[in-house]
Amino acid sequence: MLEEYARYIDRGTLKELESLAKELKGVKVLHVNSTKLGGGVAEILHRLVPLMNDLGIDCHWEVIRGDEDFFRVTKRIHNLLHMPGERSLSHEDILTYLRYTFENLNHVDTDPYDVVIVHDPQPAGLVIKRRRGQKWIWRCHIDVSSPDEETWKFLETFVNSYDAAIFHIPEFVREGVRIPAFVIPPSIDPLHDKNRELEEDFINSVLERFRIDPERPVVLQVSRFDRLKDPFGVIEAYRIVKRRLDCQLVLAGSFASDDPEGEEVYREVLEAKGDDPDIHVLNLPPDSHLEINALQRSATVIVHKPLREGFGLVVSEGMWKGKPVVGSNIGGVRRQVIHGVTGYLVNSTEGAAFRIKQLLTDEDLRKRLGESARERVRHSFLITRHLKDYLIVLHTLLKVG
Ligand code: UDP
Repeated sequence: MLEEYARYIDRGTLKELESLAKELKGVKVLHVNSTKLGGGVAEILHRLVPLMNDLGIDCHWEVIRGDEDFFRVTKRIHNLLHMPGERSLSHEDILTYLRYTFENLNHVDTDPYDVVIVHDPQPAGLVIKRRRGQKWIWRCHIDVSSPDEETWKFLETFVNSYDAAIFHIPEFVREGVRIPAFVIPPSIDPLHDKNRELEEDFINSVLERFRIDPERPVVLQVSRFDRLKDPFGVIEAYRIVKRRLDCQLVLAGSFASDDPEGEEVYREVLEAKGDDPDIHVLNLPPDSHLEINALQRSATVIVHKPLREGFGLVVSEGMWKGKPVVGSNIGGVRRQVIHGVTGYLVNSTEGAAFRIKQLLTDEDLRKRLGESARERVRHSFLITRHLKDYLIVLHTLLKVG
């Protein structure tokens, strides 16, 4: 399996991975998150877990359970950690979170593992089950640089009970974190259906299926139906562009099982689209990897304009397909896009519209930025780099080697 990556990275890196993994053979690792499908965490785990196993690590993946009341609370926590809201968590919210945490203590058997890696706030409370000799890592996938302080304080109590935390970028490491913190950006897998090469015929068939005109430029944003992804701002930017240039806007999204707000946001996006036949709002099943891949490959310009963003895998996915990305100048997007080299970073809807127009009218520029974008991903955001970083953290915590 690892051998197949030799097409994208040098042999030295593959050898390095094998040698790092040698001393971790048989180590039992468990990943825990809150959904099997939908969103970046599930996307990564679907690929990372088999790769770790391929390297001889005994790696498993469990998903916590919860009903809608739990996921309403955890979505509030998610939103409040990204930015302060109208009100902080209520006592009832906290009780709901704790009640489901206790239920999940029975459901997720963490005892047999040497290392337990818990992703994001939803399952963070499981750490109270830690037994002696185990190492527990909290992997944070969200931007916690300017949260609602009370919500962060609630979470911090759990976080500081772990042995280590991993954040995407240094700016996300909060002062209150008293445990060792590693910085590891996420990654995409070039062999995944989401990212592998596709036949032209298949790409055309996808455009036909969604009634997208292949002859006219396409501006694309791929994101869950979530207010923080700002689909409304993208529609506004498209409308500014459209006053001058002909183009179509594709908003491809899906629901995630741990996000109860999706349907509501989807309905609002449809309303915002109105009767414009050039805005295509596609609500896709969360495993539509080939379709998303085809849309990204056929796009003229890719946009990612969230209000807050931990990383935004969709940025690297677009860049890997040789596309310039117009992205918000925030969080993990800023880490991926190099302004003027692999795409553009923007601070406003007008700024996004300006850069989209610039790219739509300049094919050479698109090509030049797109080529650099792909190289940037090859160098920094492929799963092999991510895997290596994880192995180094395991070495450090288990003190092997
Ligand atoms: N995604 C998808 N279908 C959709 C929307 C998103 O397959 O309709 C995928 C997208 O391609 C990416 C992941 O879900 O791999 C989203 O990860 P990202 O880090 O961009 O955002 P998150 O959803 O984790 O906030």
